[in-house]
Amino acid sequence: MRVFIAVDMEGATGVVHHDQLMPDGRGYAAAQKLLTADVNAVIEGVLLVEPQAEVVVGDGHGIMRNVLLDQLHPSARLVVGSAKPSNKPLCQLEGVQFGADVAFCVGYHSMAGTPGGLLAHTYIGSLIRELRLNGRAAGEVEVNAAVLASLGIPLAMVSGNSELQAEIRAWNTSSVFVCTKQTLGPTAAICLTPTATGELLRKGASQAIADRSCWHRSVTGRTRFEVDTYRREQAQKAFAYDGVEQVGEMTFACEHENAAEAFRILWRACTMALEETPPWLS
Ligand SMILES: [Zn+2]
Repeated sequence: MRVFIAVDMEGATGVVHHDQLMPDGRGYAAAQKLLTADVNAVIEGVLLVEPQAEVVVGDGHGIMRNVLLDQLHPSARLVVGSAKPSNKPLCQLEGVQFGADVAFCVGYHSMAGTPGGLLAHTYIGSLIRELRLNGRAAGEVEVNAAVLASLGIPLAMVSGNSELQAEIRAWNTSSVFVCTKQTLGPTAAICLTPTATGELLRKGASQAIADRSCWHRSVTGRTRFEVDTYRREQAQKAFAYDGVEQVGEMTFACEHENAAEAFRILWRACTMALEETPPWLS
């Protein structure tokens, strides 16, 4: 069995603040260890049920060089490197197109605009005020699930912040959800220890692999993404890109019969809409 684990950082054990999310933050090095421990617990849970599983981990946060390779479970491989479209047209999911039987989203957060959401955003916090998938506001996990479904891959497990559970359950009642912390506000939560979340993540991953009723398949077919940007100038830059439709002064859209292809256009348009390339995308 081939398992792809898409990894973000805002929903990892103990992560509650921006200073834990980028290399210049003083909490970053400690957060890398917490994140890697979460990923290892998930891998252990997978291997308890499927000892021969081939596990690929996609490092999908910020600079996309967060997971500590020398501390990662030896049976896994790691997708490492910047999310610029010339590297990773599928962003957090890059690599999954080479083959996976099932996927997980580990360490995730709620979408941009979630009231009181912990480190809530959608892909690029400075750019996307709201992202809609076929007319409805969607977060990163739902977008990933749509792309996965278009590649024939189900989503079996999600882990992250407490308020993410309701966001997931609005469209997916099947995947296992593991809560790593109880959100208090945008930069605070009641956190479980790595020992406690490790146990939950191991159990959740084992269940997600063993019980196929957890394997959620999103609806496939024609997919339309619409993005409301924060600034007029951002949308104007996105309009210039082939395949992008101007919807409003600050809104652009891209549409394709295949969600993975629609996402490739979306991701390139988003990176082009930025007024300058941020260091994490270089
Ligand atoms: Zn992130």
